Formats: sequence, C-alpha cells, structure tokens
Amino acid sequence: MNDDRIKCVKDSEITITELMIPAYANFGGKVHGGILLSLMDKVAYVCASKFSEMYCVTVAVEGVEFLAPVEVGELVSFKAAVNFVGNTTMIVGIRVESLNVTSGKTAHTNSCYFTMAAKDPNGQLAKVPALKIENDTQLRRFCEGRAIRDFSKQKRALLKSDLSQCSILELKSMVNKERCQVDY
Ligand code: GDP
Repeated sequence: MNDDRIKCVKDSEITITELMIPAYANFGGKVHGGILLSLMDKVAYVCASKFSEMYCVTVAVEGVEFLAPVEVGELVSFKAAVNFVGNTTMIVGIRVESLNVTSGKTAHTNSCYFTMAAKDPNGQLAKVPALKIENDTQLRRFCEGRAIRDFSKQKRALLKSDLSQCSILELKSMVNKERCQVDY
C-alpha cells in the first residue's frame, strides 16, 4: 500500500441507520447500551476501513456516555467520520441520533470517539493515509482527536507505571476514604 496517500474527511464519511427491534430491549423496555456500543463498533470499523482501505481493529473508545434513552421502534442514525490520523491509527467520531418516526421527535443520544488501527494482510500495523483538512470544523475535530490520543497515552501511562510503583501500604491508604473495605 502506498504510504503517501492523502484523503479528505469526506472520503471517510458514512451514515448507517438501524431500526431498534424488540430483541435489543433491556428489562426496562429501553435499548441496551451494549447493543448501541456493538453497533458503534461496527460503524467505526466501516468508516476506518473505508478510509484506510485496510482491515482495521478497535484499540480504544473515549467518551461513551448515554445522554438520552433509546426506545424500541425508533430509527437510530450513526454518522461517522475520521477526525484524526496518526501513523497507523485513526480516530473515528460517531454522532448517534434517534428518530421517533410517528412523532418526528429526534434526540442526540451520544457522541463518541473510537481509536482504530489499520492492519496489513500479514496482521502487522500499517500506515494510514494523511488527512486533508478543508474547513474549521475539521480542523477543530483534528485538534480534539490529537488531544484524545495524548490523553489516552497519559491515562495508560498513569495506570501502568505510577500505581504499580506504589507499595501495598500506599494503595491501602489511597482507598481508606473510599466506599470499599480492604479485608486482608
Ligand atoms: P463534535 O465531535 O464535537 O463535532 O461532536 P458531534 O456530536 O457533532 O459529532 C461527533 C462526531 O460525529 C464528529 O466528530 C464527526 O466525526 C461525526 N459526525 C458529526 N456530524 C456528522 C455528519 O453530518 N456526517 C458524518 N458522516 N459524520 C458526522
């Protein structure tokens, strides 16, 4: 694959609409968050693989927060685009909106950001095209994507190194005001 490709955000844009069927409901009659997550993962894959023209895998998800419940019978649209590219990873933004077809009422149910990595046919990480930025919104989303990448790196480093250096005594004192009981 040519490493010097440059592609527009438009080349990555997709919209997928899915009907919320009764099998997607939880005991409260609303659509399971896990169903929406699974659909978002599929959408992120479609968007990233279309843009990179390669097989892609999910690395991380940021910002999943369900703002409004989704009802059975509603149509849910997933609008996705590549916001940011690194060397072998892309950040795919997804905006999820529900539509009640009878009332015409729409709701923004959530937005989230999937980090996807491209793989070559041998399963090795592969370089993705650069991104052509053509307007202010794309520039803002690219900068936010870069911040998400840096934040994820810091978070991983914090969880892996800092806390693993702490003694058991330090870890115990860290949680002594939390709602847990250290019972050993
Ligand atoms: P934003 O990221 O702060 O602009 O928040 P939004 O909720 O508006 O959008 C979330 C993400 O969904 C964006 O970052 C885009 O990647 C994607 N997105 C938003 N609007 C559209 C759209 O009209 N079409 C497509 N294909 N993707 C969109």
